[in-house]
Amino acid sequence: RAKQHQRGSSQYFSAAMGNDARERFKLLKGLRAGFEESQLFVVYQPQVELTDGHVIGAEALLRWRTSDGRFIPPDQFIPLAEQSGLIIPIGEFVMRTACMQLRKMVALGHVGFRMAVNVSMAQFRHPGFIDMLGRALRDTGAQGGNLELEITESMAMDDADLVLRVLADIKRLGMSVAIDDFGTGFSSLSQLRQLQVDRLKIDRAFVQEAQSSTAGSTIAQMVINLGRGLGLTVIAEGIETEEQRQYLIGLGCHEGQGWLFARPMEAAQLEAWLQA
Ligand code: C2E
Ligand code: MG
Ligand code: MG
Ligand code: MG
Repeated sequence: RAKQHQRGSSQYFSAAMGNDARERFKLLKGLRAGFEESQLFVVYQPQVELTDGHVIGAEALLRWRTSDGRFIPPDQFIPLAEQSGLIIPIGEFVMRTACMQLRKMVALGHVGFRMAVNVSMAQFRHPGFIDMLGRALRDTGAQGGNLELEITESMAMDDADLVLRVLADIKRLGMSVAIDDFGTGFSSLSQLRQLQVDRLKIDRAFVQEAQSSTAGSTIAQMVINLGRGLGLTVIAEGIETEEQRQYLIGLGCHEGQGWLFARPMEAAQLEAWLQA
């Protein structure tokens, strides 16, 4: 009877929604504990010059391996971390780890290495964000000039005043900025022009649709032209085939990232890969 009553009282929600909320809550608890227990780590995916394959740097990507060895994809746990505020300490962990690795790459002789780190809107809004960046540089000895922050297109268009202010501070630290997943949002051209960004990163959806659909190739072409027209570097993500690489070169895209070149890998692997 009690069960029946419970079921009745949650009638507004579909069973699936109730499960979803419970699942998310469990996942968040696990994430909090997992972060404490060092289950989070950072992998690096090389970024290259499209025409000659010359390595420019790498993007730092967060990974979560639970105690029973399962990998939870960032697309699942990052939104939870953002909603709960946990992204602040986790984002700091990613930044410090990436800066340490960057310092090491430079020491190994990869002087101009560019380390790209994803940041969330919640981090941009956090009043301690710029101080955190400065500390990460100071404590690790990494140079701001070797760092790039990736913000998403929707973020770039979100709170114009805030974003402009934080971008200016980031620039003062010498860091560059890329707009990630470009083409998936609705950028206003005038807003885009105001932003002090250095690079547009074409979303992999357009890279992968570019040859199969007219719409995909039109968007890829437009984004590349737009970026070039604004004097920005254009990088494409999710390049898996040689055909895609050739096609993007043909469209005038400068840089690339994807399984064709290398998968995301742990630090030691990255160092070995760069030697080879
Ligand atoms: P993103 O920043 O757009 O990262 C690119 C994603 O594409 C990565 O997924 C990468 O592993 C994947 N990828 C790279 N090359 C290929 C390819 O050739 N084919 C295919 N199919 N996929 C490829 P990942 O690592 O699962 O990350 C997903 C998203 O999670 C990232 O998208 C980013 O938005 C977010 N993320 C990851 N790490 C962090 C972080 O430290 N902080 C924040 N705020 N977000 C992060
Ligand atoms: Mg990214
Ligand atoms: Mg992206
Ligand atoms: Mg993406």
